[in-house]
Amino acid sequence: MQKLNTLSLAHQFIESHVSDGDLCIDATAGRGYDTAFLARLVGKTGKVLAFDIQQEALDSTASLLREQGLHENVTLYLDSHANMAQYAAYGTVSCITFNFGYLPGGDHHICTHAESSIAAIEAGLLLLKENGVMSLCIYYGGDSGFEEKNALIDYLKAIDSRKYTVLITEFANRPNNPPIPVFIYKRT
Ligand code: SAM
Repeated sequence: MQKLNTLSLAHQFIESHVSDGDLCIDATAGRGYDTAFLARLVGKTGKVLAFDIQQEALDSTASLLREQGLHENVTLYLDSHANMAQYAAYGTVSCITFNFGYLPGGDHHICTHAESSIAAIEAGLLLLKENGVMSLCIYYGGDSGFEEKNALIDYLKAIDSRKYTVLITEFANRPNNPPIPVFIYKRT
């Protein structure tokens, strides 16, 4: 049986909403695991755009994609996810995934911040097509602190319920601030 953690839940959710030929966005490429996952789901006729502000992350992602033969339909952008609307048209994206925090094995001081994260979610919601989805994995505590998480949760709770359905879930009995899985559906 698959492990039950934030990442596996996000992947199950994404898998059930993405098909061959879709356009998807990985808003936080990091080491490339989510980018590779999306690239496999959209297949040769689909397309994935992946963003990160660190060249180290994009280099890692590029080498993982090449290793797995998934590089052809992925474009990597050294840019903040807050600018993602410059690279895709409104209403065309099937899935956007965010994995907040810092690059695993990298500099913990370079990490996501509430202001740009919220700007990116806002832009992403407009890029989603009808029935499109967004998954967020919110880390907090430890090096990440609580500021970004608190701001994100406040923002997510205020999203227009006539246009989007927002699920904020939690591992109620897991110790050590387990990451929070969030799932957003764009309504028709
Ligand atoms: N999904 C990744 C994977 O599969 O390995 C893990 C992502 S890691 C937890 C978070 C990443 O977000 C880091 O690589 C960091 O550089 C990146 N990041 C931080 N601020 C960003 C921003 N404004 N725009 C895009 N990426 C950002």
